[in-house]
Formats: sequence, structure tokens, C-alpha cells
Amino acid sequence: MIAKTRHIEDTKKLLGSLPAVRYVDPEYVYLPITNARCAKGDLFIKEGDHVDTCQLIGMRHGPFFEQPIHATCSGTFVGIEKHYHRNGKLVDFVKIKNDFKDTFDKSAKKRTPEEIAKLTKDDFTEIVKNCALVGLGGSSFPTYVKFQTDKKIDTILINAIECEPYITADHRLMLEYPYRVINGIQYAMQAFNCKKAYICIKSKYKDLKEVYSQLLKEVEGIELCCVGNYYPQGWEVEMIKSATGIQLNPGELPSNRGIIDFNVSTIVGLYKAVKYNIPVIKRFISITGDGINYPKNFRVRVGTSIKDLIPLVDGYKNPDKEKVFILGGPMMGASVPSDDCIITKTVTSILVFDKHDEKEEPCVRCGSCVLSCPVHLEPVQIMNAVKAADKERIKKLNPLKCIECGLCAYSCTSKIQVTDYIRKAKIFAKL
Ligand code: SF4
Ligand code: SF4
Repeated sequence: MIAKTRHIEDTKKLLGSLPAVRYVDPEYVYLPITNARCAKGDLFIKEGDHVDTCQLIGMRHGPFFEQPIHATCSGTFVGIEKHYHRNGKLVDFVKIKNDFKDTFDKSAKKRTPEEIAKLTKDDFTEIVKNCALVGLGGSSFPTYVKFQTDKKIDTILINAIECEPYITADHRLMLEYPYRVINGIQYAMQAFNCKKAYICIKSKYKDLKEVYSQLLKEVEGIELCCVGNYYPQGWEVEMIKSATGIQLNPGELPSNRGIIDFNVSTIVGLYKAVKYNIPVIKRFISITGDGINYPKNFRVRVGTSIKDLIPLVDGYKNPDKEKVFILGGPMMGASVPSDDCIITKTVTSILVFDKHDEKEEPCVRCGSCVLSCPVHLEPVQIMNAVKAADKERIKKLNPLKCIECGLCAYSCTSKIQVTDYIRKAKIFAKL
């Protein structure tokens, strides 16, 4: 059967209406020394040292930027351990024993409205750089680099679409802290001297519409923008097209068209950085899937182990069954082999499923993957070229355009993990 798939199963109606449980006192927090964007990292502390919340304890080194590492609780640095990271790999984490005092580093200081009103774009850039703010929707791209654009920005878009199934972390953030969202947008508008901002949500989110259409009546320049209910509506290119009518050319930066966009969690990170001069030390996440008893939303300290949260969802539904763990959404997230993984700044959710043995069938050339691909690739052809290890053909099929949305695998009638082949093709294409 040929099927174009952009409408994926809605699995979040109930979870989105559950207020987040505050779990901010784990016994230990774990902070990665490296990550997917920074292959190297240095520490400024040694075992046994006391650290304060928000203290700068190290620096990660990326290809063209550095990323400060901050403690997310106060306590003692007790060692380095390996755990699974959001990128699906085992990496070294700093382990801090929480003293439950939450004494803040002296760098954390509240700015007055008068001080904030005087901040220039360069000041904002410096603040987000020092606070290590990154794209919290999962991209982990350094936010200060976006702030460095020399283009004239006339529209700010806030991405609160959260288009993958299951995840409701941004949804709860928006409902529970609307003024932080609005103030964060106002700071971004000040930084870019921009008069217009849109908060983009799916049109089916009635609760968000109700809250924000009331609150925004009093706010100049910020409007709600209800976009489509399909996937991948949250992809930057698709969101910009729906919100402004502008179709970006392949590889074109939004700033080229006077647009800059931020995930809604990032904008709340901006609020905290500007108002209190603190990095992201807590975040909203969802824990869900058919492998646990009670799916819930949480607000946790960054660095919390998923293992600590499993008892709070009443454990695994079928403890004897093998589980599949996914950090992030089911379409774009990374699978990890166990619950020994850590909530870093960019982890939006952990999905736990009982493992079902779904057997892949041979490709029936139905074309569903081709019809579903939002960037107009031919996934089945790429897969065949990868199987044949035909590098020339792979390059011609342009797999580097792939945004890894997962729709080709989702729509495949034969349950083939087509996206995995496209990832392999990307590696081939870069050789
Ligand atoms: S994962 Fe890549 S190839 Fe597959 S549908 Fe999405 S963009 Fe297209
Ligand atoms: S890979 Fe799957 S979706 Fe694509 S043509 Fe083959 S059977 Fe159809």
C-alpha cells in the first residue's frame, strides 16, 4: 500500500495534562565532560573539592566554540564515572554528591529591570555564552553563535511545536511558567531590536491557546501562531514556512531572511541567564512508553540519573521483559541499552518500551518512504546503494540533505529501519 505519512499517532493527550513532579534533590548529579558537539573537555576541580550550584567546574572544547560546564547542585566532587549520554554513547561524567544545601556560586546574581534595560546585543551574547546556553530542543547548538549574527532580524519565532509523539516537556513548561516564556521572548526582542515575535504551537493545543491568547493581550509585539498538526512541523524549515510563508532554500540560514528562531525551553534558559545570571540547572522532561507503570512529567535537576526516576513512575510494567530505552522522541531520539543514562540539558524525554520482536520483511517497493520524505529524497534507493556499498551512487542520491526525521522508517510497510541506512549513507557520503 502506498501511503504518504505526516500524521503520526497522537500519544500525548493525557500526559500533556499532568502537572510536572518536582524532583530536584537526587543524591548525586552527573555532568558530561564531553558531548556530541565537543569531543574534548577539561576540569577545573579535583576529587574531594566542594562545589556550589552554578559554579564553573570545567570547559568542553568544540570545533569552533567552547562550552562551560557548571555544577547543577552544591556538594562534593567524588569522581568520574561512565554513563550513557543523550547521543547514545558511554561517556565520562563528573559525579557530584549533593549536600542538599543548594548554596549558589557568587556568579549568580539578580539583575534589576534597569540593568536589563541597558543591556546591548553584545551584552546578551556574552551572558548566554558564559551561561553555556544551547538549543534545548535537542540541537545543543550554542545559542551565543545565533546571537552573533550581523543580519537585521525583524521576526523571532519560538518553536513550541514539540511535534514528536509522546513528549510533553515543552507543553508543561509553557503551562507552568508562561511569564518566563514571555519575559524570555522580550529579552530576545530587546537583544535583536526586533518588534515582532510569534510563539508557534500546534493548532490542536487548546489549553495553550487559552492561556496564551489571554496573557498576550497585554503584551506588545508577541502573538500566538497556530500551525499544522503534522510531523515534522517542528522542523525549522517547515515552521518558518507555516508561520511566515517564507520557503528557505536548502542550507539557507533563517537570519538571511530576517528571522531567528529558538526552542521554547531555550527561551526560558535565556530568561534565567539574563535575569539571574545562571545556566540551565533544571529542566522539564517526560518519562513515558508502555514499559513503565505511570508515565509522568518531571522537573528535575540537570544531571539526574534516569535510574532515580524509575521508582517514581512506579517502576517497570513487566520487569521480566527486555526493554527498549530511547532518549528523546521516538522519531529522532537515540536508543540506549539500559536506564543507566543521565538527563543532560538537551534531554526532553525518556521513552521506555517493552521489546517486541518485529521482523523486518523484504522491501516491496511500495514507495511510502519516498512519498513521506519531507526533503524529497529517495530513501529506498539510498538503502539499496548502501547495501551494495556503491559510494558513487550514494553520493548522487544526496543523503546529506536528510534531517533524520525518521518518517521513512515509520511509514515503511515492511518495517525496515530505513533511517538507519540513511545514517550509514551519510557516513559514506562524507568519506
Ligand atoms: S529520515 Fe531522512 S530520508 Fe528518511 S524521511 Fe526523514 S529526511 Fe527523508
Ligand atoms: S523501504 Fe519500505 S517504504 Fe520504502 S519502498 Fe521498500 S517497503 Fe516501501
